[in-house]
Amino acid sequence: MAYDFDLYVIGAGSGGVRAARFAAGFGAKVAVAESRYLGGTCVNVGCVPKKLLVYGAHFAEDFEQASGFGWSLDEAQFDWATLIANKDREINRLNGIYRNLLVNSGVTLHEGHAKIVDPNTVEINGERHTAKNILIATGGWPQIPEIPGHEHAISSNQAFFLKELPKRVLVVGGGYIAVEFAGIFHGLGAQTTLLYRGELFLRGFDGSVRKHLQEELTKRGMDLQFNADIERIDKQADGSLKVTLKDGRQLEADCVFYATGRRPMLDNLGLENTGVKLDKKGFVEVDDLYQTAEPSILALGDVIGRVQLTPVALAEGMAVARRLFKPEQYRPVDYKMIPTAVFSLPNIGTVGLTEEEAREAGHEVQLFESRFRPMKLTLTECQERTLMKLVVDAQTDKVLGCHMVGPEAGEIVQGLAIALKAGATKRHFDETIGVHPTAAEEFVTLRTPVGA
Ligand code: FAD
Ligand code: NDP
Repeated sequence: MAYDFDLYVIGAGSGGVRAARFAAGFGAKVAVAESRYLGGTCVNVGCVPKKLLVYGAHFAEDFEQASGFGWSLDEAQFDWATLIANKDREINRLNGIYRNLLVNSGVTLHEGHAKIVDPNTVEINGERHTAKNILIATGGWPQIPEIPGHEHAISSNQAFFLKELPKRVLVVGGGYIAVEFAGIFHGLGAQTTLLYRGELFLRGFDGSVRKHLQEELTKRGMDLQFNADIERIDKQADGSLKVTLKDGRQLEADCVFYATGRRPMLDNLGLENTGVKLDKKGFVEVDDLYQTAEPSILALGDVIGRVQLTPVALAEGMAVARRLFKPEQYRPVDYKMIPTAVFSLPNIGTVGLTEEEAREAGHEVQLFESRFRPMKLTLTECQERTLMKLVVDAQTDKVLGCHMVGPEAGEIVQGLAIALKAGATKRHFDETIGVHPTAAEEFVTLRTPVGA
């Protein structure tokens, strides 16, 4: 049968755009549907605007520290509306770039909500298009628990477009988004409380990292409330929110921001017209080749719920394009050693196994740790400490994990990730000459194991 397209991609986010562009580059006839915004979550309501706001928040400490270096300023003023308007302008520019990338690579762009009507047909804007393969790359959506008054809370989707900076913000959750946005609000001057249901936030990160960030945020004056969960939210006559916790305590806020994970975006996608199956958590189930239970339909990125990071969606997009249209160049995505950063203030950077994971996997573990005051702060009052930690296999000398909390941790860990991917040993680290004076050189001068 002749199809209109070789590949029909639903969702022009990180993974969808990558798959569509490369498939078209390999000579396939490709269409991509997008209902909301070109570039998807990352460009519009994720990584990019988030990082711009983090930069904005960081200026607060830069101004504070500048006096130690002889600079004097009148009291710094911050204007939220300017930051948001400038951010919006930049995102508009990026949307245009994504449009050009798609169109210039020969991809047909359909703007509207796409629905699968049978395993080889997509309906959009009242028209039907057939395709040999359909790729579901529809991403995710914030998930807010349905407690009484949840409608008064916002998610990251709204936070990027608030008309003004709230005076008192309550951030709920203990994952990436909660920690990053708590840092943004706090840095920009809002009175910020981070409320997490467990003992300590950032479950899954190395224990030393979690503890260190807790100490640093507390030093900065952020109110951290652990073992705390919200029972209900009530709007008061003056517009403020009264938050009642499960332990009976009450807090007041002008904004309650939930960052409690993301669900797959499958709304009105028409999966009932296909044999596509979902996993236990409701994400689209795929095999190692991103194939769903319906032979003509593939899926990737956040909607499959493996690793919800842009570079992972990009790698999956590339793998799908190659497997379908350039099989001789196909290489599977390697999910081990994925480096990641949390853009909290200070940043976290991490790659490889945590101490806890290494022990659980049966490694005899040797640990190297350093905590120090960054050189840039020595002329200032700021008491911030940086943490660097290496997890090493005592038998093989292989470095299993690198973890950092401190300025530019993400930038530093990106380089270390290459070394770990190449199988670097602690001896390789020791024999590497440092770049002086940097913070990063500490990673190659850690000589004495902790506790030795
Ligand atoms: P998406 O980028 O979400 O794209 C899916 C697209 O599909 C969307 O544009 C959507 O409108 C469209 N769509 C959905 N349904 C339909 C339909 N039926 N028809 C047509 N179009 C449809 N990752 C990082 O690596 N680093 C970060 O710093 C980072 N920060 C983040 C900050 C926030 C606040 C959030 C929410 C996420 C962040 N992420 C970050 C995660 C990252 O954004 C995602 O992992 C990534 O965008 C996933 O890409 P995707 O292609 O799977 O989906
Ligand atoms: P995460 O899964 O990272 O964190 C969710 C948090 O919410 C956890 O602390 C979880 O607690 C808590 N939680 C879940 N359900 C409830 C509930 N019903 N009540 C109270 N608390 C709850 O999700 P995020 O929303 O922060 O981010 C989504 C994903 O986006 C991230 O996992 C990450 O992959 C990606 N992302 C990446 C970024 C980056 O690379 N810098 C930045 C932002 C997002 P518990 O741990 O107890 O389950």
